[in-house]
Amino acid sequence: MSKSLQAIRGMNDILPEQTPLWRYFEGTVARLLDNYGYKQIRMPIVEFTELFKRSIGEVTDIVEKEMYTFEDRNGDSLTLRPEGTAACVRAVLEHGITGGGQVQKLWYIGPMFRHERPQKGRYRQFHQIGLEVFNLDGPDIDAELIIMTWRLWGELGIRDAVKLELNSLGTSESRGRYREALVEYLSAHHDKLDEDSQRRLKTNPLRVLDTKNADTQAVLVDAPKMADYLDDESRAHFEGLKARLDAVGIPYVLNPKLVRGLDYYSKTVFEWVTDKLGAQGTVCAGGRYDGLVEQMGGKPTTGVGFAMGIERLVLMLETLEQIPAEISRQVDVYLCAFGEQAELAGLALAERVRDQLPNLRLQVNAGAGSFKSQFKKADKSGALYALILGDDEMAQQVVGFKPLRGQGEQQSIAWDALAAHLATCVVQG
Ligand code: ATP
Ligand code: MG
Repeated sequence: MSKSLQAIRGMNDILPEQTPLWRYFEGTVARLLDNYGYKQIRMPIVEFTELFKRSIGEVTDIVEKEMYTFEDRNGDSLTLRPEGTAACVRAVLEHGITGGGQVQKLWYIGPMFRHERPQKGRYRQFHQIGLEVFNLDGPDIDAELIIMTWRLWGELGIRDAVKLELNSLGTSESRGRYREALVEYLSAHHDKLDEDSQRRLKTNPLRVLDTKNADTQAVLVDAPKMADYLDDESRAHFEGLKARLDAVGIPYVLNPKLVRGLDYYSKTVFEWVTDKLGAQGTVCAGGRYDGLVEQMGGKPTTGVGFAMGIERLVLMLETLEQIPAEISRQVDVYLCAFGEQAELAGLALAERVRDQLPNLRLQVNAGAGSFKSQFKKADKSGALYALILGDDEMAQQVVGFKPLRGQGEQQSIAWDALAAHLATCVVQG
């Protein structure tokens, strides 16, 4: 196929054989969020470029080199969203739904776009489920976000394979004091830093902390620690969070180098990481951003949130073989009809059954075909039972009911009794 008719590098089709697992994952998360009292919000995929520059920060990887930015026909600079927080904050401000201290507990799901180097677990269009809470400033809500994800890992069967890393970045004042101390220390070791870190030292010094360069890491061993610069309020907040995680029994490790890639975080930051996916080990990441709403022109409004990468979590379910057997079967019953009269009767019968059993996954054979070919399709569909309508059944107003997975003989069921019979033998989701 010519290149221009192929998908863009790093942007994937999610094929029908993969969508059951995606839907299982998304459904599990959505149910959990419903149960904890979070409400879904849906934002556009494209926003003014300025929004991301203002919120994410000019000197972050995302804004410097990863955004899909273009001019539209009016000459406005637009960007495909690289993340969800900026648009979510814009939306709550635009509609005034966080005004007067109103609490909002929101979540969203959808594609994000970043021009990164595609590799396993890292794509140019990828999908996140994200969550943002506004106007709750205590550590209790930070804890709730983490507790909720902990429950999710449990339900998905991947809890043993993820680890929680925690840090506190303090308020912007204490972070400012820390930044000064860090810059002073790193400047004294300037020649030993890698080129990227030398550049970051000038633009965004905290980002030097999460360098992958071994020489720079060696310099960082004796660098000042944020923990020693935390203000009392941030310290108390962090202790409050840890006490709650201890109370629920959620293990964590403190990682003083965890700074997150975005500029807007304050106080709590956290990441759930795994060693099952190679280099792309973070499956969920977030933190508190108490200054962001004001920075974007709103009244002071605290915020905390996280986002998880759906591709990476789906990959984990596959890698750890935590795929529930029932999600791959999408058909309960397959109806085969032979001859024109039987086909018409079959259609009407199927609709009557669907009226009575709206959750039944009933597939009616399309494209006619011989007894043999329809039966093959019934079997291949994964259905538990085949329904058979031929001349004999038509004459007696019954349908043949045949178990396809080994249990029992074929029997005849009267049309009127079919729905009731199916209700007893098919467990409906
Ligand atoms: P990373 O360090 O892996 O680049 P990040 O800090 O840039 O991640 P966030 O912006 O915090 O990521 O996004 C939250 C989550 O979204 C990540 O933890 C990850 O699971 C997922 N994610 C981020 N970028 C990508 C990508 N390019 N492809 C797939 N998933 C991604
Ligand atoms: Mg990144």
